[in-house]
Amino acid sequence: MLSSVSDAFARHVAWTSDRPLGFVLERADGPFLYLSDGRRVVDFIAGIAVSSLGHGHPKVRQAIHDQVDRHLHAMVYGEFVQAPQARLAERLASVLPPSLDTVYFVNSGTEANEGALKLAKKHTGRRRLVAFERSYHGDTHGSLSVTGRDVYRDPFLPLLPDVTFLPFGDVQALSALDDTVAAVITEVIQGEGGVRVPPPGWLAALRRRCDETGALLIFDEIQSGMGRTGRLFAFEHLDGPPGSDVAPVVPDVLTLAKAFGGGMPLGAFVAAAPVMATLRHNPPLSHVTTFGGHPVCCAAGLAALEVLLDERLAERAATVIEPTIRAALEGHPLVTAVRGRGAMLGLELVDAETTARVVGQCLDDGVLLGWTLHSDRLVRLAPPLNIPEDVLHDALATIRRALDAA
Ligand code: PMP
Repeated sequence: MLSSVSDAFARHVAWTSDRPLGFVLERADGPFLYLSDGRRVVDFIAGIAVSSLGHGHPKVRQAIHDQVDRHLHAMVYGEFVQAPQARLAERLASVLPPSLDTVYFVNSGTEANEGALKLAKKHTGRRRLVAFERSYHGDTHGSLSVTGRDVYRDPFLPLLPDVTFLPFGDVQALSALDDTVAAVITEVIQGEGGVRVPPPGWLAALRRRCDETGALLIFDEIQSGMGRTGRLFAFEHLDGPPGSDVAPVVPDVLTLAKAFGGGMPLGAFVAAAPVMATLRHNPPLSHVTTFGGHPVCCAAGLAALEVLLDERLAERAATVIEPTIRAALEGHPLVTAVRGRGAMLGLELVDAETTARVVGQCLDDGVLLGWTLHSDRLVRLAPPLNIPEDVLHDALATIRRALDAA
């Protein structure tokens, strides 16, 4: 006889902590998760910034069905012309600055960063990497090597040599960059590090220093991309002091994943064609992947991008979601800060115990919130970008009540 799914989970599925949430998910639809005990929960973290169109958007589902009927995996990445890949790359390039015109598809965020780091090393012929304190770039060895938190790194040492960590947002510290550096990798807004927006002018200073030294600048927009911060990509926010006429800072390599696949596993690193060409020779096949750019995932990604653009969801994050959340929660005596942009916000509370209590109470009352990896007193707020206004208001009322009771 089959055991219950919870028993099977407990006995045979590897856990990532001793206390997983452990809900049995029946189905998900729009902003809601439906659990086996009959509860309906508002997904206010969107599967950690993945389900930006809510769960099971009909256009994404249709694109998946259509592609499943055409073909699944047919050949390793890069050999056959597969329409979903080609069309998604073309569409993505059309919404990016002209220098970001060539897309290498992979399966996940950490793989996107692995590819970007390898690309930078091969392109520059240099070895040194620079990253920032409190950054998070993924859990494979290369990405972990540029992740700025020792508790996650120490058990796995030695990692990549020649990685220098600098304080995030500190212009002075950028003088540490020199012509031995292959790449500088940073999030445009740090996510797991506690939803931190760098001070105005820092990204521009970083761009200048990379230009001076010949290091490639990698922006990891795995969490901040695809409309979440109120622009299609967070680097499109102008980077000057308020009122100044400063152009956005464009990276040499952009990495994407999470919402990019519309709920399917898909990542990418994007660069200029001549830079990307370095992976073609000396030796050929310098970077290969079997499943990268899986046709079903690319079909879903393309449909998701079209919905994001058609429904102007980035704009909605900036003009509806952020102001509504700030109006509801800012100024509460237990809230010490609301950080972030658009629908990538962090609610910093007075202490870790209060944070745990508020998150627990909201869950009991049907709103799923979460922590970020590096901070235990920051509540992650990352609802679907198309969350209906009544659901948004109700969820915020629930959070407000939990704060009042904490
Ligand atoms: N970079 C950033 C900024 C992320 O937030 C994450 C995931 N939280 C990753 C990389 C890693 O992505 P994945 O889990 O798909 O490997």
